[in-house]
Amino acid sequence: MDLAERLNDPALFKTQSYVGGAWIGGDTSFAVDNPANRQKLAEVADVGEAGAKAAVAAASDGFKVWRKTSPFERSRILLKWLDLIQDNTDDLATLITAEMGKPWREAKGEIAYGAAFIEWSAHEAARVHGETLPVPAPGARGWTIRQPVGVVSCITPWNFPAAMITRKAAPALAAGCSLVIKPAPETPLTALTLAELADRAGFPRGVFNLICGDASKLGPIMTGSPEVRMIGFTGSTEVGKLLMRQAADGIKRVALELGGNAPFIVMDDADLDAAAAGVVQAKFRSGGQTCVSPNRIIVQDDVADDFVERLQARISEVKAGDGFAPDSDIGPLIHDEAVERVDALVKQAVSGGARVVVGGQPLADELGGSFYAPTLIEGSGFDSEIARSEIFGPVASVYRAGDEKHILDLANDTPYGLAAYLYTRDIGRVHRMSEGLDYGMIGVNAPMVGSASTPFGGMKESGIGREGGKWGVEEFTELKYVLLSGVNS
Ligand code: NAP
Repeated sequence: MDLAERLNDPALFKTQSYVGGAWIGGDTSFAVDNPANRQKLAEVADVGEAGAKAAVAAASDGFKVWRKTSPFERSRILLKWLDLIQDNTDDLATLITAEMGKPWREAKGEIAYGAAFIEWSAHEAARVHGETLPVPAPGARGWTIRQPVGVVSCITPWNFPAAMITRKAAPALAAGCSLVIKPAPETPLTALTLAELADRAGFPRGVFNLICGDASKLGPIMTGSPEVRMIGFTGSTEVGKLLMRQAADGIKRVALELGGNAPFIVMDDADLDAAAAGVVQAKFRSGGQTCVSPNRIIVQDDVADDFVERLQARISEVKAGDGFAPDSDIGPLIHDEAVERVDALVKQAVSGGARVVVGGQPLADELGGSFYAPTLIEGSGFDSEIARSEIFGPVASVYRAGDEKHILDLANDTPYGLAAYLYTRDIGRVHRMSEGLDYGMIGVNAPMVGSASTPFGGMKESGIGREGGKWGVEEFTELKYVLLSGVNS
């Protein structure tokens, strides 16, 4: 598939926003670049405050129709959207690689992962139901019903340009909510194509709205408008806190998928090869730019030398390059500031006594874009900046620790609590440690934790709420209780 040809195909490729079933422009626009070569891909319209207000009004109208649409019809339209996404997987993956940088085969994997949430939610739409309840008054009846929350504003990041949208939009639509979605300015092209496919799928006008533009103008309308009843956000903890504060005024519901600082724990009884392979898989996916990326690789002292050696061999094989090149294992970081931030963390670690085992430098001169070398360091302190903050880049940092209790204390010593990984063959340790880790998701001998049927989300400052499975759909419903008095009296 030729990218230039695709970007000139007006049937699929859009640069305007989708509001109330129509494409709308704005007074200004912003550029979207390819981080692998810094070439401009497109100029996307910024719809400004007027566009955001129009989207909220459209979603408010759309909700009136969608909430009354039968769950089976909702399911049918969702499955149509799924089909269209699957039919256009290659084009969507091409857009992801072009605007975000991840390798094309990984981008295809993201489409499959994101599509699975649509499939699951479509089937779950028909299973949203209440219960009958025992009540104290004789002859009375009590029951619960689950109803859609209302208009939902969804704000998404750039690291999964498609999946972070489908993971919210699909369950919300299944529950009967209408949407105003704002993608990240780095990756609007994939999002706009998802909107084009939603249009073709036949959602009633106003049910699905997607707007692009300056967050400082769009954000307050998306969070502050009284018609909006819920804010679904994936992004940094800092912005999540801000949105939660904005939601407080209207007591709006929030679902927040925020940053992480995942420990990857390797115990002395672990299969060290499997653990080293697991680190590479979890760490270098999306170039290390995932919320569940192992941030601190904590290895028991007595196997640490052996483990570092095995990890070194594997990381030396990881190849950075343009995501369209078939032999690239990781693409560029999202922009030059990300490279500078990662490089500063590594330099700081080294000046604090850490040793660079592999990599440890930007590759902009060699590769011509925002690239950073796949890197392994060891010997940072647990109080170092690289241990405390989210690296969000292709840097694996190994720490040594003593017994189980020491490791659990270190692993939990962070405000974050999204994903943790544990490698051990001792079933007692599996139970003790998975119960002791303050994280929403634990991968035991498993480097990939998320799927459409399971709850994805974090504790502490990593967020509130769960995406995926029945929990993902429930998140977008209100539980209502009805009491009918004296039926038999
Ligand atoms: P970010 O800076 O928080 O931005 C995320 C989104 O929020 C973007 O669309 C951004 O738009 C928007 N935004 C920023 N300020 C806003 C405001 N005041 N009002 C409304 N919208 C606003 O995060 P990022 O750098 O794109 O993504 C990386 C972060 O996401 C990492 O911390 C990562 O761990 C987290 N993440 C979490 C999960 C999860 O499931 N827990 C998944 C993926 C990523 P602008 O850029 O235009 O400001």
